[in-house]
Amino acid sequence: MNIGIFGGTFDPIHIGHLVAAVNAKYSGSLDEIHFVVANVPWQKEGVRHLTPAHTRLGLVRQAVSNIDGFIASDVEIRRGGSSYTYDTLQFFHEMYPDDDLFLVVGADVALEMHTWERGDELSKLGSLIVVTRPGFEMPKGILGWDTWQSVEIPSLDISSTDLRQRVKDGRPLSFLMPEFAIEFIRDNELFME
Ligand code: ATP
Ligand code: MG
Repeated sequence: MNIGIFGGTFDPIHIGHLVAAVNAKYSGSLDEIHFVVANVPWQKEGVRHLTPAHTRLGLVRQAVSNIDGFIASDVEIRRGGSSYTYDTLQFFHEMYPDDDLFLVVGADVALEMHTWERGDELSKLGSLIVVTRPGFEMPKGILGWDTWQSVEIPSLDISSTDLRQRVKDGRPLSFLMPEFAIEFIRDNELFME
């Protein structure tokens, strides 16, 4: 099998994530793609308020539940502590020793991967798929990777950061994320502080 690993904070999940994943799955001939919800995204910790990991996971679970080959993964939450993608790829490698792993990232993340813990060693464990993201150049070189697959996807200038600000401002979220997630955010008064 070809297994995609799509990590993120998903605070909250939005249709940019879903469009990125479905196109990476298609272009990479992936049999499944795991949405790995970060426990503690160490580069975001202390910088801003983070929604509890289980809440973020719950929204991802519901968002992908009816989509063929999409799987919500709690491996980083179960591992606890800071979330390092190297450890996550290692975990999948041990779980699926005979399958091929594909790390899926957006262009913004690809440009930051050289700052990751053991980021330059990730290519030992799998291949890389980079999807386009509005506002970010596609990388010309990535530390530790000789090659990767670039996938052009529809430009959706949607980010969790903007969605959180929309909640604070009372601006609409409709069509930017699944409807149930909008209801959950309203019912639980997320992102108000
Ligand atoms: P934040 O603004 O809080 O950083 P985000 O929208 O960037 O949130 P993340 O959880 O940080 O979402 O991103 C998870 C993955 O999804 C990353 O690889 C990121 O590049 C990718 N991604 C997020 N939004 C888009 C988008 N609109 N188009 C393409 N890729 C995206
Ligand atoms: Mg981001």
